[in-house]
Amino acid sequence: MSTPEHDLSNILRDNLLAVQARVASACVASGRVAGCVQLLAVSKTFSADDVRQVAACGQHDFGENYIQEGVDKIIALQDSQPALVWHCIGPMQSNKTKLVAEHFDWAHTVDRLKIAQRLSDQRPAHLSPLNVCLQVNIDGGETKSGIASADVLALAAEVAKLPRLVLRGLMTIPDPVNGFDAQVAVHAKTRALFDDVKAALNLPHFDTLSMGMTGDLEAAVHAGSTMVRVGTAIFGGRAYPV
Ligand SMILES: *Cc1c(COP(=O)(O)O)cnc(C)c1O
Repeated sequence: MSTPEHDLSNILRDNLLAVQARVASACVASGRVAGCVQLLAVSKTFSADDVRQVAACGQHDFGENYIQEGVDKIIALQDSQPALVWHCIGPMQSNKTKLVAEHFDWAHTVDRLKIAQRLSDQRPAHLSPLNVCLQVNIDGGETKSGIASADVLALAAEVAKLPRLVLRGLMTIPDPVNGFDAQVAVHAKTRALFDDVKAALNLPHFDTLSMGMTGDLEAAVHAGSTMVRVGTAIFGGRAYPV
């Protein structure tokens, strides 16, 4: 007889497989090579045990929004084999950069030079440089985090000089819009900006366009995303909204 835990791990596995299939068919539908889009499993609000179950199905990259919650899971799962890769995808205040620099592998939400400088200064010497993306406020929402498109190139040039960071690309969370074409239109703006920065700065590791979530991953892949961040479709609905 199956235990409740067993049922849960089956559900998580089936969800993960379904999301992998969605990403793969989005690649095919867009004429892109299957496997060119990385899947980041967004585990915010879910337990270390849930993460362990998804990791057991071969998923290694996990995203967290709340820094302390993320650090608790990183510590709980630090003996995982192979090692998990942790991405900070939530807002970062100055007083949290040290935790991010000490525990995460990636930070997707850099939108100010001051935050980037702190991350670089605080990255421990025994760790490889922290991978960072600049968060772009692509649709100009007034209350949103992220740098304005017009300022991205200048910030990228500065961040690229910091010794303990590797500038990997851009990240965006557009406001939800209805319909595939409208979603593609917004994501295409970030893609164009990504191409501009890449051409202007010619950085060897600038290869990541972090965009697309449960509701719009097909459109994001169509527009050129290289990393989709998916929570709900893998872990289920969250008990509190974020
Ligand atoms: C929560 C979150 C996600 C995942 O959203 P879903 O709609 O649950 O897939 C992706 N990116 C960021 C920045 C998030 O905060």
